[in-house]
Amino acid sequence: MRADLTPVDVALDRILRHALPLTERESRPLASCLGRTLAGDLHAPINVPYEDNSAMDGYAINTRDLLESPLAISQRIAAGQAAQPLALGSCARIFTGAPIPEGADAVVMQEQCETEGERVRFPLQVEPGNNIRRAGSDLRAGERVLAAGHTLQPQDLGLLASLGLTHAEVVRPLSVAIISTGDELTPAGEPLAPGKIYNSNGPLLTGLLAKLGIAARHTQLPDDAAAIRAGLQAAAQSADLVITSGGVSVGEADHVKQCIAELGELSVWKLALKPGKPLAFGRIGETPFFGLPGNPVAVFVTFLLFVRPFIKRQQGQVNVQPLCIKGRTNFTRPASNVRQEYLRVRLQTDNGITAYPDQNSGVLSSTSWANALAIVPPHTQINEGDTLDTLLFSELLS
Ligand code: AMP
Ligand code: MG
Repeated sequence: MRADLTPVDVALDRILRHALPLTERESRPLASCLGRTLAGDLHAPINVPYEDNSAMDGYAINTRDLLESPLAISQRIAAGQAAQPLALGSCARIFTGAPIPEGADAVVMQEQCETEGERVRFPLQVEPGNNIRRAGSDLRAGERVLAAGHTLQPQDLGLLASLGLTHAEVVRPLSVAIISTGDELTPAGEPLAPGKIYNSNGPLLTGLLAKLGIAARHTQLPDDAAAIRAGLQAAAQSADLVITSGGVSVGEADHVKQCIAELGELSVWKLALKPGKPLAFGRIGETPFFGLPGNPVAVFVTFLLFVRPFIKRQQGQVNVQPLCIKGRTNFTRPASNVRQEYLRVRLQTDNGITAYPDQNSGVLSSTSWANALAIVPPHTQINEGDTLDTLLFSELLS
C-alpha cells in the first residue's frame, strides 16, 4: 500500500467516528414512517394474538369429551364473533381466526371429521392445543418488539398496527444541502454553450438522498471563491450536512478546500479507491461536510461507500453496512493496482457477474446498466470463475 493512499475501510472508520446520531425525535402517523428510524425501543402494549383463536376451519372440542364422539354442535363461531363457553359434551363449529370458546382445548380440522346430521364424529386421538393460536404467541404484552435504530419497513407498519398503534416515535429526518461546483455546469433544460456540460451530479445526489428519505436542497455554483464561500456558509447554517461535488482534485486551483479550511476543519484523502480517488471530509463551523469528486461515477461510488453509512449513523441506524454477496466472474481483467476497484457489474440469478465494458469514472451509463458493484481488492488479477464480493444496488439504494 502506498503510504499516501488511504484504504477505504480506514477512511470510513475515521469518518464514522464523526457521526453523531440526531437526538430530536417526533411522533408520526404510521403511514408517514416508512424508511424512518425508530427513536426508541418499542414494546408491545397488548398480546398478539389478543386472545386464543382457531388456526383452521373445523370444530372446537374439549379432548376429554372425545369418548362420547359423535358430539352435538352447540354453537357456530365465525371470525369476528364472540364465543360462548362450550357446553359440556358438545363441539363448536369454528372458522379460522375465530376465538376459542372457554372450555375447548383443541380444534380438529374439518377434513378429519365426519358429520352425521347435527352431530360430528372425531378421530380417536386429538392432542390438547391442536390448531389453537395462543394469545401472545406472536408478541407478548410488554416484550420488546423492535429495537431503537431499526429502519421501518412496510411489514413493520403492519406489525405496529397489529398492536393497535397509530403512531411511532421516529428520529427526525436529516436535512442535507447539495452544492454542485464547476464553471462548466449547465442545468438540464437550458441550451448547452461551447465548453459546457449538463450537471448530472445534482440530480444524482438528490436521488441518492431521496432513497434515504431525505429531501435535499440543491445549489449549483461557479468556480468562484466568493460564491462558494457564501454558498457553503449558507448551506451549513440551514442543513445538518453539506455535500459538494467537484473541485477537490489534487493540484487544482480549488476554492472548496480553501473555504472549508478557513470556515472549519478539513481532511483531504487520496483514497486507495477507484473510481473516486480524492475525498474531502470535515466541518463548516459545526456542520459536517463531504467534498465528493466531480466525476459522476466517482460521486455515485463515494456517496454509497462513505456518505450513506454516515447519514444512516446520523439518523440513529445501527446497521449501516450493506449486505455483501459472492459473485462469480465471467470475465478476465489484468491485475489492479494499489487502489481497490468497484466495478459496475450485472449480477445474475446464478451469481454470475458481467462487467460493463467501459469502467471509466466519467461513464455514468455504466451505473444505469449495472445492478451491483463488484469489489476488486488491490493488486488482484481476475480470471474467469473467480469469486468477488458484490454489493447489490437494491441493498445500497435503500
Ligand atoms: P473536478 O473534480 O471538478 O475536477 O471534476 C472532474 C470531472 O467531473 C470533470 O470532467 C467535470 O467536468 C466533471 N463534473 C464535475 N461536476 C460535475 C457535475 N455536477 N455533473 C457532471 N459532471 C461533473
Ligand atoms: Mg471542477
